[in-house]
Amino acid sequence: MSRLCGGIEAGGTRFVCAIGRSPTDLRDVITFPTTTPDETINKAINFFRSNGDRIESLGIGSFGPLSLDPTRADYGYITSTPKHRWQNTDILGVFKKALQIPVILDTDVNSAMLSEHRWGNAQGLEHCVYITVGTGIGGGIIANGRLMNGLTHPEIGHMRVPIDKSIDTYEGSCPYHGDCLEGLASGVAIQQRMSLKSAGSLNDEMIWELESDYIAYGLATLTYVLSPQRIIVGGGVMNRTGLLEKIRDKTTVLLNNYAISDEISTNTESYIVAPGLADKSGVLGALLMAGSF
Ligand code: ZN
Repeated sequence: MSRLCGGIEAGGTRFVCAIGRSPTDLRDVITFPTTTPDETINKAINFFRSNGDRIESLGIGSFGPLSLDPTRADYGYITSTPKHRWQNTDILGVFKKALQIPVILDTDVNSAMLSEHRWGNAQGLEHCVYITVGTGIGGGIIANGRLMNGLTHPEIGHMRVPIDKSIDTYEGSCPYHGDCLEGLASGVAIQQRMSLKSAGSLNDEMIWELESDYIAYGLATLTYVLSPQRIIVGGGVMNRTGLLEKIRDKTTVLLNNYAISDEISTNTESYIVAPGLADKSGVLGALLMAGSF
């Protein structure tokens, strides 16, 4: 990547904008909260316009759902997001028009998967998954060395997981499915469960036990469906001490040594891992996309 590129990690909670080429060549990075579309997008445009280093292309890794089919009229839009005011936002078009340079768009999690594959903890692998557990839950998949987008991008967070309603009476936070994985285990779900707990019998420790249960169910399913060589688990919720280790243990128990490689059964520490690029995976992936022009 020789040209100077711009990258945006457009998250539901924060925007990260960067200019550079790689983890060792990041010229300028700013982070600001995601507010209204107008205010947030204008702040990002102003950052790239006012910077002395002129970028030649821009990559955007955005929260979704996104329309990524160039034949559709809503191509480049954030579509049916539950995020207030962001439904039907033309995130690709507005940056193209304002900056007059090539702009490429994909999901924030596909973007993070790309950078982990190039520079982080998925280097050299042909099949891998990146999942983020933050405000929402999402994931990107590399299969045969390439990002996997089908009819649309993967929506890992909306898979179903088993629930024991005698223990967990929380109905879930997903506006579309209620108790899908994101509805049960996202940062929003944890917060809501904690604020509702006076009405139930769960203490904080039990809530975190449920959290690791649900994520482990998700990872066990991903293991069997995709047979990845590694699963990277990032996102703000994973900053909880001991959570990753607990998820590893529970995933191993769920798989129960059935039809899995030794890599998983004897070396779970290198199968389920944290991101190698910490909280920069998303924006570095956006730079990588920008460098693909
Ligand atoms: Zn859902």
